[in-house]
Amino acid sequence: MKCPIYSAKFISGDPKWVPVCSNFKKSFVLGGKIKSATLYISALGIFEAFINGKRVGEDYMTPGWTNYKKRVQYFEYDIKELLEGENEIVIGLGNGWYSSRGINCRHPRPMYNPCPAMICAISLTYENGEVENILTDESWLVGRSGVTFSSIYDGETFDGGTRVEYNDNAKLYEYPIDNLIPLEGEPTREIEELRVKEVITTPKGETVLDFGQNLTGVMEFVIKNAVGGETVKIECAEILDKDGNFYNDNYRSAKSCVTYTTKKGWQVYKPHYTFFGFRYLKLVDWCEEVDADCFRAISLHSNMKRTGYFKCGYEKINRLYSNVIWGQRDNFLDIPTDCPQRDERLGWTGDAQVFCRTASLNFDTEKFFTKWLRCMASEQCEDGGLPFIIPQVFSPEDKNSAAWSDASCIIPWELYKAYGNKALLREHLPMMKKWVGYMYSRPGGRYLYLDNNHYGDWLAMDAEEGSLTGITDKDLIANAYYYYDVVILAQAHRALGLKAEKYERMATRIRSAFQKRFIKRGKLVSDTQTAYVLALHFGLVDNLPNIKERFVDHLIELIENNGNRLTTGFVGTPYLLDTLTENGRADKAYTLLYQEAFPSWLFSVNMGATTIWEHWDGIREDGSVWSTSMNSYNHYAYGSVASWFYGTILGIKPLEPAYRSFELSPIPSRKMRSAKARLETRSGVIVSEWEYVGDDIRYSFNIPEGTVAIVKLHGHEEEKLCGGLYTRWTKAVD
Ligand code: BGC
Repeated sequence: MKCPIYSAKFISGDPKWVPVCSNFKKSFVLGGKIKSATLYISALGIFEAFINGKRVGEDYMTPGWTNYKKRVQYFEYDIKELLEGENEIVIGLGNGWYSSRGINCRHPRPMYNPCPAMICAISLTYENGEVENILTDESWLVGRSGVTFSSIYDGETFDGGTRVEYNDNAKLYEYPIDNLIPLEGEPTREIEELRVKEVITTPKGETVLDFGQNLTGVMEFVIKNAVGGETVKIECAEILDKDGNFYNDNYRSAKSCVTYTTKKGWQVYKPHYTFFGFRYLKLVDWCEEVDADCFRAISLHSNMKRTGYFKCGYEKINRLYSNVIWGQRDNFLDIPTDCPQRDERLGWTGDAQVFCRTASLNFDTEKFFTKWLRCMASEQCEDGGLPFIIPQVFSPEDKNSAAWSDASCIIPWELYKAYGNKALLREHLPMMKKWVGYMYSRPGGRYLYLDNNHYGDWLAMDAEEGSLTGITDKDLIANAYYYYDVVILAQAHRALGLKAEKYERMATRIRSAFQKRFIKRGKLVSDTQTAYVLALHFGLVDNLPNIKERFVDHLIELIENNGNRLTTGFVGTPYLLDTLTENGRADKAYTLLYQEAFPSWLFSVNMGATTIWEHWDGIREDGSVWSTSMNSYNHYAYGSVASWFYGTILGIKPLEPAYRSFELSPIPSRKMRSAKARLETRSGVIVSEWEYVGDDIRYSFNIPEGTVAIVKLHGHEEEKLCGGLYTRWTKAVD
């Protein structure tokens, strides 16, 4: 039976009320004893539903962000316990991603349509088997709510003294009903509450609350005794400037501000339809004495199950790992965003691609990415091209950057390796093929992919000061990824029991074309760490062992000539430590990991970071900031390093999808003293642990029943072990 929501109608308030948000109301009386009651609900905007004054469900920012041109999710709630004989349902509707203004410079505002709308069906099944459906239509009443302004980037304004008057009937709203789809992703929830760590009075005299952690979510505050009609105004920031003053120029045009008008007496408030990225709150206007206990920061994100844990005996690395986890939590709010604070918060495909492997180790991301990948497929252009961001709200020509659009091949493949879901891989095969087909059809001639819309090695440190992109040749990057995608496509075909020869042949040809075009006199045309990392990691010189050896030596040289520091950006960084490790130089990878001089991971840790920065030099040594325009302190891309923690430090590497078989080949480091990772896989819990005991190292492993682990330890014969607990000892070599 088709869900009754398909028989309901989308309704809105008066478009002239915008930006004031609407509340909708319907009263109904039960016609007997009910067996079950379900609310099916969706919105073009953000809904919040209340039945008899009680909030329905625990989800926020519902129904999430999808390609609203084609798809919008509906949610389903069991409401039996909330019902009485006479009932009233109230639904609040905020602008959300559908009706908020977009990022200024890139695309029109609002993102989709200035007027939001909602739809729902209350389905009652009586004990006698009769079914009654209460559906949205013009009979629903609507009124102006206390939310007088609401926007994803700019925050919310609320009048606490509002009594909603339901004097109007809802208006019917045109929207294709068949775009409704059942929930696919992970609903956003309130995951954690943080309390104020410190109330600061800055040199400028500002009152600032510090929560000690950069996070994504909302603030909640209590006003104990208001006269009524006072204004409260709160702004958000991620950092203080070098003088200790409140600083949020890096939010660009995003006002990220809450303005609240009090009612008389005690009250509590948290924004309804928006979220912020913040560690600090400035009380621009506050109406009574500041009491730290009256504030909470509530972390909101997609409710994914945590699956990966890492801890070691080196505190700075633990902080780095914690920053990676927070970076993921803060940017997995319904879609994978680049950052949660400034006027972007968009589903940048490149960022998601480089972080996907780490993300899927830390948390169970299968549902989360399932929804987003379906949006990606739905946004794919006729010619196979893919937008830079998903959902696409930029102009149509904003598409097809190497390392960004390759997310279409890389993410389905990473998910398959992590979770072993063949159906998901099969579902996305057409998208993967179409993207490869796009590259194949570009001028350049089939095996050489030449295009002009590439971001390059974004934010790499090998270009001149102030440049947003590194110096690695963009065509080299694009063709390295072209090869990688085709290799993935061939492997995906094999995994699905399909013929892969065509893509295997194609890969060989792309590799030859790459070598011809980008290797000159035994060297790559770009003398950068990123160029060598891509060529080595993607296997672009695997058939040329001498060249490969030279490339490894040269990569080491480039790192050493730079004072044992990296220069890589978004494109090179995710594979840098893996490339060194795969080529026998885990020692160098550790050197980079432990590096504290700028640019390095620990530089930001030393500078007090609690999340991963967008730029290696987000804050400089002297405390000044890199720039106001592109300077987020909560971008997960460089957090991709954590996959190396699981995969190399503790050596857990899948050999078969979903870890049905896997390798345990930890590479310990004395400086860390001990390390432990625990991974909840689809095949069971894997634990890998080691500890230095004098000149020896003690290992312990948990191998899930039904799986096989190939254990490779330095100086030991390789072992094949099945389910159980094991300990092993080796001599330390460092
Ligand atoms: C975003 C990035 C994104 C990039 C494209 C930026 O504005 O924040 O993370 O990938 O644009 O180069």
